[in-house]
Amino acid sequence: MIYNWNIIGHEKQLKMLEGDIASGNLAHAYLLCGPSHVGKYTVAKKLAHTLQCPNNFCGKCATCTQVRKGSHIDTMEYPNNRESIKIEQVREVVARSTMSGQSAYKVVLLQSIERMTPEAANCFLKTLEEPPAKTVFIMTTSHVREILPTIVSRSRIMRFHLFSIEYLTKVLREQFPDSDPEEIDNVAKLSLGKTGKALDLMNEPDKLAYNLKLYKDVLYLLDTDNIVERFRYVEGLMEDDRKRRDFLNVMLHVLRNKLLVDGSDRFIRLISNVENAKSFLKQNVNTRLVLENLMFMN
Ligand SMILES: [Zn+2]
Repeated sequence: MIYNWNIIGHEKQLKMLEGDIASGNLAHAYLLCGPSHVGKYTVAKKLAHTLQCPNNFCGKCATCTQVRKGSHIDTMEYPNNRESIKIEQVREVVARSTMSGQSAYKVVLLQSIERMTPEAANCFLKTLEEPPAKTVFIMTTSHVREILPTIVSRSRIMRFHLFSIEYLTKVLREQFPDSDPEEIDNVAKLSLGKTGKALDLMNEPDKLAYNLKLYKDVLYLLDTDNIVERFRYVEGLMEDDRKRRDFLNVMLHVLRNKLLVDGSDRFIRLISNVENAKSFLKQNVNTRLVLENLMFMN
């Protein structure tokens, strides 16, 4: 690699970006799409650094410090604050990107652009149709189907995927050479294919223990024939929204991995049961009923 990205995985995507930079063929707009917590926004932000820092994303110069803190005058950042992106904000972006700047580029970082209101998206589309010179829009989304197709087609698409357990184990071993191999195996197993989650778990032993417990619970419940015990487990999930959500996600992950090893119909059926349970629970259907139904898992 040419640049000091310091990122776990995504070599293919980073090499593509390096190629674009080296050949002077940067797109006006990049759209990084894929599941949440796999590192899309990290890549977006590092690309901003790489474009702005005069010294190979040194991380130390005044420019790098400003980009990191969000105070760099030619780097505009709109991280996901769980609010929609409104037309006023898009107009502000356009106004600022057409002003003359001090840097080689104007960089606009937009996280989770499915947050744009229809008016904002239409206004933004006009900007992409006639992009301001030397401006690079770097956008992310986990919901590409919700994005105006004309915005997608005017962007250079970079796809991100979930990582396999084997791959996560390998990169975690490289990144954390002093860590206990068993801990790394557990983190790789429990991070649901997401590097962001893997790093969280490496840094937070309590979270790791909590997830490990859920993982073992799922394996036990899949194995036991004792319906009384399964129902007792539902009791414990009734009190705790977050645990219930986490349990279902871990269960889905375990089932998908089991399906990869052994393509049995049981796992296909159970995966669809868990997915149905997740969507029922979002619709305020009787929680106990949904979970108890899920526990008939033969
Ligand atoms: Zn720097």
